Amino acid sequence: MLKTRIKRGPKKQFGQNFLTNKNVVKRMVETASVTKEDTILEIGPGKGTLTENLLLSGATVYAIEKDRDLIPGLKEKFSEYIKNKKLILIEKDIRDINLKSLKLKTGSWKLVANIPYYITGEIFRTFLENKIQPSSMTLMVQKEVGQRVVARDGKESILSISVKVYGKPTLVSYISRGNFFPAPNVDSAIITITNINKDFFKGFSEKELFEILKTGFAHKRKFLFSNLSSIISGEKLQKAFRKANIPLNIRGEDLSLSQWRDLAASI
Ligand code: SAH
Repeated sequence: MLKTRIKRGPKKQFGQNFLTNKNVVKRMVETASVTKEDTILEIGPGKGTLTENLLLSGATVYAIEKDRDLIPGLKEKFSEYIKNKKLILIEKDIRDINLKSLKLKTGSWKLVANIPYYITGEIFRTFLENKIQPSSMTLMVQKEVGQRVVARDGKESILSISVKVYGKPTLVSYISRGNFFPAPNVDSAIITITNINKDFFKGFSEKELFEILKTGFAHKRKFLFSNLSSIISGEKLQKAFRKANIPLNIRGEDLSLSQWRDLAASI
């Protein structure tokens, strides 16, 4: 009887689009300025293409992979690194990872990953808002997400401001779909967020700022003032706008980062 070998293809539900172009992988590692002193967290090592380049730079890598079928291949490929504790391979959903249990310390590690796009928003939120923040994040994201994060069209969004309050985002390069297998239905971009910290929050909390942001962007066509008046009384709001020197007829997308700060501090 013929032995049938089950060959499992990439899994769509896990957002598996493996990088096939070595130059793109190198570009990511260079962008993150990875050195041998670095501790890197990689989400979704997949078949280990990016992982390998991170390890070659001498860094210590924590790689978190949800798909258990990929674990044996990774264990085999990197057995030496695992033995030497340069690679810590963890089979888990990234959303269930407790950074404290990995013994990571605030600002002392970097996130580098070709992420599964279905959890892009969660990844931004989880790691930017975390008490144990990374010093930088270098990510492959969907092209439109990359453009929106840096506000390429000059219009801010809840996404761009939510990132900029924590760090400095840069769109490094567009990466076309042909650099992945299987090719996704969208093009991608490498972005990096550097200088991550929480210095922005002085005189108001993260929670307070995000409440204002969410409400301020709730109806895009309305003025910011009108959006915010659903949670703050008109009189108080007028005072705050005056104090922050912000015109009443401005839309959320036209407010700069420092104006958001002034407004949050005045409310
Ligand atoms: N880094 C590899 C693979 C990127 S594809 C490369 O560049 O080629 C995305 C990877 O994330 C896949 O390996 C997928 O199995 C994994 N993944 C998907 N959802 C995940 C989750 N919730 N937590 C951790 N890994 C996940």
